[in-house]
Amino acid sequence: MNFTDLNLIDPIAKAIQEQGYTNPTPIQERSIPDIVNGRDFLGCAQTGTGKTAAFAIPILQNLSKNKPSNKNIRALILTPTRELAIQIEENIKAYGKYLPLKHLVIFGGVKQGSQETALRKGVDILVATPGRLLDFIAQGIISLKNIEIFVLDEADRMLDMGFVHDVKRVIKLLPQRRQTLFFSATMPSEIQKLADSILNNPVKVEVTPVSSTAETINQSVYFVERDDKLDLLTHILKNDIADSVLVFSRTKHGADKIARKLQSSSISTEAIHGNKSQNARQNALNNFKSGKTRVLVATDIAARGIDIDELKYVVNFELSDVSETYVHRIGRTGRAGAEGNSISFVDGLDLLNLKNTEKLIGMKIPVEKNHPFHTDNLVAQKRDSNNKPSQGRPQTSNSSRPQNSGSKKPGTTPAVGGFKKPKNKNFTRKK
Ligand code: AMP
Repeated sequence: MNFTDLNLIDPIAKAIQEQGYTNPTPIQERSIPDIVNGRDFLGCAQTGTGKTAAFAIPILQNLSKNKPSNKNIRALILTPTRELAIQIEENIKAYGKYLPLKHLVIFGGVKQGSQETALRKGVDILVATPGRLLDFIAQGIISLKNIEIFVLDEADRMLDMGFVHDVKRVIKLLPQRRQTLFFSATMPSEIQKLADSILNNPVKVEVTPVSSTAETINQSVYFVERDDKLDLLTHILKNDIADSVLVFSRTKHGADKIARKLQSSSISTEAIHGNKSQNARQNALNNFKSGKTRVLVATDIAARGIDIDELKYVVNFELSDVSETYVHRIGRTGRAGAEGNSISFVDGLDLLNLKNTEKLIGMKIPVEKNHPFHTDNLVAQKRDSNNKPSQGRPQTSNSSRPQNSGSKKPGTTPAVGGFKKPKNKNFTRKK
């Protein structure tokens, strides 16, 4: 299918062409015609599937049908993080550049003055995080009574981040008659209940389950002792990888430590995490996107939803206890069908998480042994609440894992599901 088959109005078609999009992604193919026809929509889609355009394009088309009514907010997009909110608004700006519709993004952590001024001038499409939105509503600066289209984005993440209560408060303030679009990567029962309670006979589209990783991502694991991780990272950044790299750290403190070490090795690096001001986070992100900074070290919250064009490498400095996080992290690369690489450093503390992650994604991740810090003798350990290894019973580990191709490049893995053609293969490896 081509975008020209979707009967988009000329200003949108032209803007999309300028973005270089020719074919809608699978979720866009389904969502655009139905949303334009006024249907509610339930999209079960992970990051990198083109889900932002899947709702942004039909919203622009629908709002363009009627004359903008004065100063009323007509579409509300609620999303969990500031970074994601900013990104969604950037997309709306790009797709709506030839339309007279006004859009704005609001989020907390910054002074409200300029957001308030923009709101008072009138906004058609508002992208918001829940806390700041409720603040403005409480102050009487925002009213939701004229909302025609409501989007709840990343609903499962709202739950994870403890925002569901706020989301429910917002929903109560919406007019009964409206179009609702609901997006979530996973559908835990609480989210399913929420969807059922706010959607009216929705079109349901599931693009790829969260347990699948984009097909175009080469995944690899590096077995390394905990104390060698910083040296390994420095080594691969100096010897193996010439591109920009997004590094994920479990903790804010860890992110700062990694950034300091890389800086001291003359590798331009910045860190983003929840302890940094919103301006510092945005500057660091802009520097990384423009190529000014080569390495960005991020915690999961700060990195959620970040979309970096042509990012080729993601490094997991540790694996998360939450296996789904792996899918979200590596989804920062290999976006929109481009090729990407993910490298995961695994020490004794990560072994259990590796096992769980592999179970979730339904495949073994190839081990890259061709580096100076490789070890076959990791000992499984438990993490205590202070993130230190506990003195639990050690078990001997995976020295029997088969060797990878031995190339310097991370192993190429035909992964499951993804942007182009979702599949569901299981990959097994002899023990
Ligand atoms: P998202 O899942 O919304 O974060 O989108 C992932 C990436 O895909 C973004 O960089 C979009 O700009 C890009 N994208 C979205 N739709 C298309 C399309 N139809 N063709 C090519 N790239 C797209």
